[in-house]
Amino acid sequence: MRAAFLGLGAIGRPIAAHLVQQFDLAVWNRTASRAGDFARETGATAARTAREAAYGSDLVFTCLPNSPELESVLEGPDGLEAGLAPGALLVDLTSGIPAVSRRIAARLARKGIHFLDAPVSGGTAGAEAGTLTIMVGGEAAAFERARPALETFGKRIVHVGPAGAGHALKAVHNMLIAVNVFALGEGLTTLAKAGVAPRTALDVINHANGRSFVSERLVPERVLSGAWPRTFRLALLDKDVDIARALAAEEGIEAPMIDTVSRLLHQAHAALGEEADHVEVIRLHERQAGVELRG
Ligand code: NDP
Repeated sequence: MRAAFLGLGAIGRPIAAHLVQQFDLAVWNRTASRAGDFARETGATAARTAREAAYGSDLVFTCLPNSPELESVLEGPDGLEAGLAPGALLVDLTSGIPAVSRRIAARLARKGIHFLDAPVSGGTAGAEAGTLTIMVGGEAAAFERARPALETFGKRIVHVGPAGAGHALKAVHNMLIAVNVFALGEGLTTLAKAGVAPRTALDVINHANGRSFVSERLVPERVLSGAWPRTFRLALLDKDVDIARALAAEEGIEAPMIDTVSRLLHQAHAALGEEADHVEVIRLHERQAGVELRG
């Protein structure tokens, strides 16, 4: 069966590497050399345009920075929409904007094209291992149709509601990661100055109820080790929390916590730039405190 994948970035690429083992896969990427390299390494076919990638594919995946990028990829004579046949299913793995996804779903539905928002969690390591959590918004029948393909790279795959629901849940989920990164940066630098070594502090926290994925995995593996790998850009987390902030506002929820972490993320994004990883926020706490959290 033929499928297509558009957006071979940090997380898209390892996901596509699973799909190519099950499907006759066409790939497209804005920077064409990435699609060419992937095709050479895996046996996929590199398409010249988004339209060409989708042509003849029943199932099309996108993994782009945000929903506006998907809208622009859909548009135009060589765009994705031009290549999607009635009956095709577009599965958007992007962490995107719920309202835009609802609009895209409605527009495509008028042409008989199905749409799911299906953002993922688990990072590039989870993508490589094929153990991602996938939260899916859209019609139940489309979800069932996509499920076998999602199972090639996901472990926990949940239909969470109608179109846009996956993106809503993902934005709130990532807001929680952001809160934890900032809270641990502040907390651990405070403790270091107060004479508690970061490794000791984490050993206690991680056996007590203040623990989180950030305290159990990200800080020990990336900060204490001094490794600082770049797997998930801070710019993308900033975008996710912006989505959560807009969602809370749309729903009439007062959200001082989201507002605060969003403001802090904007500042960190401006200070650290486009390529910094989200965990590098803690570098700013280290600089401000004049300590290094290693050990
Ligand atoms: P990257 O920045 O590594 O890759 C982005 C991809 O989108 C690249 O293929 C890039 O192409 C393409 N792209 C960017 N802008 C455009 C555009 N205007 N038109 C067409 N294509 C474009 O991002 P990630 O792979 O890390 O993230 C992709 C999505 O997955 C995001 O929504 C992110 O929030 C989410 N995500 C990421 C995780 C991670 O750990 N990295 C974890 C969970 C979700 P090009 O090669 O030309 O730059």
